Amino acid sequence: MDRVINFNAGPSPMPLEVLKRAKDEFLDYKGLGLSVMEMSHRTPEFEEIVNSAKRKIKAFYSLSDDYEVLFLQGGGTLQFAQIPMNLYKGGVAEYVHTGVWTKKAMKEAEILGINYKVVASSESSNFDEIPSSFSFSDDADYAYICSNNTIYGTQYKTLPKTKAPLVIDASSDLFSKPLELDGVGIYYGGAQKNAGPSGVTVVVIRRDLSERAPKNVPSVLRYDTMIANNSMLNTPNTFGIYMLDLMLDWISENGGLEGINARNEQKATTLYACIDELSEFYKGHAKKDSRSLMNATFNIADKELEAKFVSEAKANGMIGLKGHRLVGGIRTSIYNAVTLKSVETLCEFMREFARKNG
Ligand code: PMP
Repeated sequence: MDRVINFNAGPSPMPLEVLKRAKDEFLDYKGLGLSVMEMSHRTPEFEEIVNSAKRKIKAFYSLSDDYEVLFLQGGGTLQFAQIPMNLYKGGVAEYVHTGVWTKKAMKEAEILGINYKVVASSESSNFDEIPSSFSFSDDADYAYICSNNTIYGTQYKTLPKTKAPLVIDASSDLFSKPLELDGVGIYYGGAQKNAGPSGVTVVVIRRDLSERAPKNVPSVLRYDTMIANNSMLNTPNTFGIYMLDLMLDWISENGGLEGINARNEQKATTLYACIDELSEFYKGHAKKDSRSLMNATFNIADKELEAKFVSEAKANGMIGLKGHRLVGGIRTSIYNAVTLKSVETLCEFMREFARKNG
């Protein structure tokens, strides 16, 4: 079986071991004579899948009982609205603006008519870095960042310190490295890049924040009702949560978040070394100290060659390399399931392409 080397920004590849395990369990999950997809969510067997995924996430981040883990629907995009709906208390919500995904989050705050403020932005340089000096007000209702900017290839190296509850959109670096979440308000992201298929949003929330929502927030959009119902106020994405649970097992089997981080660092180091070595030909978008371990973005000095790069890479079995239209060029997403070997194959191709066309 030939599988492509997949550098898509999301949905993105899953490890073959995980796909094979899902395949093996597909027709008959644990001898029950049905697949997880056909199983009622109101069964002990499915509840155990939800609880198992929750336990693993709590263990990864050593989360105390002050935190709850939810599996919601609506993607990161729904969180852009759900967060202000539940957390805004009539004061100010503060955002660091690092690209399209924070812009979209602020747009939802705007639609909801809340008072929000941008405390720092890298817009003037087309979001090529994470702003370095900013601070949030201690009494802000919440302080919002996007930890990894998928389109531009920038990533926070450390989380800002805040007295206000920090809200983190980790859609594109979820479960990719160890992180100290103690004190963080909400840590969330869709599973579809680092942890499974689309349709499941992981939301880690400090319990006290769920008590803030005003009465007029509908049940399905409230964190407190989702907590009270173990993410099953309504029918959840049962198969997606099952796949997420298999991915969490895979992460555990591969050294947990420390092991995954070591792999991710090795892949990113290999790829950026290749970009830097050929810096006459490939121009990295992100400033070096803001470079993402998840998405490496670059242009080709001669822009005419970019389409050729993407199509020749495809002919060589590598897909998903076309950059987002706002940055252009090439984007290489090297999420958890992308192997070092795949990155090395890409680097060989990049060297050869530069040699032939440079
Ligand atoms: N935040 C970030 C950083 C993203 O990369 C994305 C999607 N690529 C989103 C939010 C939106 O996620 P979704 O498509 O799951 O709504």
